[in-house]
Amino acid sequence: VAKRLEKFKTTIFTQMSSLAIKHGAINLGQGFPNFDGPEFVKEAAIQAVRDGKNQYARGYGVPDLNSAIAARFKQDTGLNVDPEKEVTVTSGCTEAIAATMLGLINPGDEVILFAPFYDSYEATLSMVGADIKCITLRPPDFAVPLSELRSTISKKTRAILINTPHNPTGKMFTQDELNEIARLCAENDVLVFTDEVYDKLAFEMDHISMASLPGMYDRTITLNSLGKTFSLTGWKIGWAIAPPHLTWGVRQAHSYLTFATSTPMQWAAAAALRAPDSYYIEVRRDYLAKKQILVEGLKEVGFKLFPSSGTYFVVVDHTPFGLENDVAFCEYLIKEVGVVAIPTSVFYLNPEEGKNLVRFTFCKDEGTLRAAVERMKEKL
Ligand code: GLN
Repeated sequence: VAKRLEKFKTTIFTQMSSLAIKHGAINLGQGFPNFDGPEFVKEAAIQAVRDGKNQYARGYGVPDLNSAIAARFKQDTGLNVDPEKEVTVTSGCTEAIAATMLGLINPGDEVILFAPFYDSYEATLSMVGADIKCITLRPPDFAVPLSELRSTISKKTRAILINTPHNPTGKMFTQDELNEIARLCAENDVLVFTDEVYDKLAFEMDHISMASLPGMYDRTITLNSLGKTFSLTGWKIGWAIAPPHLTWGVRQAHSYLTFATSTPMQWAAAAALRAPDSYYIEVRRDYLAKKQILVEGLKEVGFKLFPSSGTYFVVVDHTPFGLENDVAFCEYLIKEVGVVAIPTSVFYLNPEEGKNLVRFTFCKDEGTLRAAVERMKEKL
């Protein structure tokens, strides 16, 4: 394997999902729903295939989808963006992240990440040859240590990557945190890459898009996708929204990474994004009920929980059960209890920082969540 990927192992999600199958354990690890996306979206995909929408799509997106993304963004943020010049459709948000980094970051540029971070950020920055600077968000509230951020930004900083609502902690960046990050970015001429794939799963506060802060649209790339909001994680439809001068870099990388994204799924995605507000309200309400089952259950089992404001994840401290670290705990949980969680140490540059924390997801039907809680109550 090439040097730039030597340090990376099989992704933790792949590892844990195969262990779940091997041990017949209930999978509250990898974040994918065990229920299907809405019928009207599936129908739209089938119709698009039947209608012969099966050849290469326009590289930066099927026009109808670019327009639907721009319209949704306008509803969410109040911002008017040009669907032709400022929206790029990609194969999932993971590709949007990669295209953003490859298209806008030079080898040796510094990029600031907040740990714990989603695993692809570090691997992709390593492919780019970027110099990663990492700031740790610490429990209980995972607040942004603003003075550390101020002292980490340098002349070489090209971008700050934020993820709100945040995987794995469920933290949502507050207005004050975003204001200060925005101020520092303007002062130091730094870009913001913002991964907002869980924006519709905001429970405890309103989601705020960095792009909507005064003056920030011009230096922000907003990354999002269809998968979480529509329970269609396997469709891999994502997008990047950015002003034309930044979109150019994203599109150049995208053109040579995948060129275009699945055509019929893009047509169906356009139909999905035109869902009435009632759809979004219902998704949120359903997830809130699931969240309550898992959170209450984990408390009864005896975990120490950290408050999660958004996403379909919750992070807990496993140390009341006496296992030596997060990986050992998750192994025990799979083999002896029959439940899968994600050890968080892989989401840090320094794995030690995650050794007390594991992540559970509640994107499963209520019966599955209850069964997992029962197993843990019985056997932990
Ligand atoms: N985003 C999903 C999670 O955090 C996993 C996606 C993947 O498996 N790469 O669980």
